[in-house]
Amino acid sequence: MSDRKTAIVTGSTSGIGLATAHALAAAGNNIVVNSFSDKAEDRAIAEKIAGKHGVEAVYMQADMSKPDECRALVERTNERFGTVDIVVNNAGIQHVSPVETFPTEKWDAIIAINLSSAFHTTAAAIPHMKRQGSGRIVNIASAHGLRASPFKSAYVAAKHGIVGLTKTVALEMAESRITCNAVCPGFVLTPLVEVQIADQMKANNMDRETAIREVILKKQPTREFVTVEQIAETVVFLCSPAAEQITGTTISVDGGWTAQ
Ligand code: NAD
Repeated sequence: MSDRKTAIVTGSTSGIGLATAHALAAAGNNIVVNSFSDKAEDRAIAEKIAGKHGVEAVYMQADMSKPDECRALVERTNERFGTVDIVVNNAGIQHVSPVETFPTEKWDAIIAINLSSAFHTTAAAIPHMKRQGSGRIVNIASAHGLRASPFKSAYVAAKHGIVGLTKTVALEMAESRITCNAVCPGFVLTPLVEVQIADQMKANNMDRETAIREVILKKQPTREFVTVEQIAETVVFLCSPAAEQITGTTISVDGGWTAQ
């Protein structure tokens, strides 16, 4: 056991979660790296984070579509480190399809991974945070938590839902020194978005550059991708003493998308 703080980042073997795990480690926190895949590469990520930042980092496999595994991830973290100080609910998937033909199994998976997992980890973490007298919960929502786009019914519903969950948890925890906030990124160039770029190139018969500028970044006024590091540093800020009185809100990092 160490006296460092302990942060769980769900879905942290790729993209925003991976950058957030590194940034929270650089800020001196022990890290639980999570994904459902349980590969040698996943364990190597935890070893790399520990070596690079001089903290303890462990990989814990848990499928965020399964309520019991979400809750067990929190309990296993507490058993391993003796505290659960920060939970970043980041794991997420996407599927794009018209609502009338949206596959039910994709709807269920998106609601489970992008929304319900945060309910389960939050419910499991709060007793530990209350016992410790402090805690930080950061939900990675999306500009789609505040605005809609066609063909993303499940994703938009889940992300609006997580913004509502964020506000409710913040109010319930307001006198317990536990904050709960949501970060709302615009488009960030990660594997989740690479799939959408490839789909748009095919659907519109466009080259990559045109598909990015004219379709993907059409709603993002800067016409530039947000970087994973910019999201990660926003999470670090929300976990810092400066953010002690920030709770129940959304922070947009979206190149001006939701100003429209
Ligand atoms: P990504 O595909 O690069 O990473 C997703 C991570 O989630 C991976 O580590 C993957 O292993 C994990 N994951 C997926 N299903 C899981 C499951 N069932 N159990 C455990 N882990 C699982 O995606 P990303 O772009 O980094 O997205 C991270 C979060 O940021 C998501 O919630 C996404 O909705 C949100 N977001 C992304 C963007 C963007 O433009 N990339 C914009 C707004 C919000």
